[in-house]
Amino acid sequence: MDDYALVLNAGSSSLKFCVFMRPEKGEWRLEARGQIEGIGTLPKLSVKGEDGQRVADETLDATSVRDGSGAVESLAQWLRSTYGGSRVLGVGHRVVHGGAHFAGPTILNAEVLEKLEALIPLAPLHQPYNLAAIKAVFERLPDVPQVACFDTSFHRGQSAVAELVPLPRDLRKKGLQRYGFHGLSYEYIASVLPEVVPPGIAKGRVIVAHLGSGASLCALKEGKSLDSTLGFTALDGLCMGTRPGSIDPGVVLHLFQGLKLSPKDVETILYKKSGLLGISGISNDMRDLLGRSEPDAPLAVDYFVYRVAKEIGALTAVLGGIDALVFTAGIGENSPEIRQRICEKSAWLGIDVDSLANETRGTRISTTRSKVSVWVIPTNEELMIARHTASLLGLKRARAAN
Ligand code: ADP
Repeated sequence: MDDYALVLNAGSSSLKFCVFMRPEKGEWRLEARGQIEGIGTLPKLSVKGEDGQRVADETLDATSVRDGSGAVESLAQWLRSTYGGSRVLGVGHRVVHGGAHFAGPTILNAEVLEKLEALIPLAPLHQPYNLAAIKAVFERLPDVPQVACFDTSFHRGQSAVAELVPLPRDLRKKGLQRYGFHGLSYEYIASVLPEVVPPGIAKGRVIVAHLGSGASLCALKEGKSLDSTLGFTALDGLCMGTRPGSIDPGVVLHLFQGLKLSPKDVETILYKKSGLLGISGISNDMRDLLGRSEPDAPLAVDYFVYRVAKEIGALTAVLGGIDALVFTAGIGENSPEIRQRICEKSAWLGIDVDSLANETRGTRISTTRSKVSVWVIPTNEELMIARHTASLLGLKRARAAN
């Protein structure tokens, strides 16, 4: 096998990875996609090839895969046994928070890592695990270059008002601003829009709905982010699997002052116990909720749809109109019911959904009469990371020089 680039997306209990082959020309080619899940409990490695066929499914030794570092070691062993003499050309990481400083992907070193560590309090669910994986790779493969690709970078360049957190200036100077997230997904969608939609629309006013466990909307104009629903942290905006989205900050004050909850309890409530899970009391998973009849399950789904439709209206105001709506990520790509309901609530904007195309998962799911076209485009954050890693490390040029 040829040399390859590795893409890592490290979470609290899982390490997702993709192996991309260096292309002769054109796009990086996915060779394998997999994950180690159950880190710290019952670790398991599963890998699929580019054709979606399973190539590995192994239970791992729980004593060796106690944390992210153990997971990286197990992955390194699997890569060695599978790809033998091939070289890892570079490792690209998904890093959730790049703060105000990192407006694009960055080659990692000790100084960059220190800056990223300072951002851990702003993304406590993701950032520590992202950084632990980077350190684990540095320890094992010190000569392999690593690149951090941030979920926040794509949103840099928004207007001063879109980024503003309207608190006193001395507090704002401590890094309080709206950052936005899911940037790698939006960047990927913006990159493929010209191939999928008519040229006038790709350059026009587009709202992308990234609806997964984490969910947000992004307002794109000429492929650039003007605003998005996530802000200073990944708690803002839409209702998510376990996060509430926008709530009156007075509620948070009340949790502290009225109900005397500790900061740790409040953090757990906001990041892990609210949203679809909190409303339904049943599940954070949209698939589960759509099949349940207990009253709070439909209430959670109704609230999810209500919030998305409401924020589509708000971002339409930001854009001064809307030419196209794009659905992506787990719910956006796979749930015709949720897409249908969001489109019906947005009919006032000139959206006319084509129910058959929506059910059969067409790429375009609006009728020809619809003033606003509606699309389903699968996201590919890993490919975006592979592209950035390759271009930052000059991997294509290296090959040409060989
Ligand atoms: P993340 O990457 O943030 O973990 P995903 O983009 O994988 O999230 O999305 C996960 C969400 O997508 C879950 O709520 C899951 O229930 C939902 N989902 C996946 N497939 C379907 C489906 N067929 N119908 C409804 N929801 C679905």
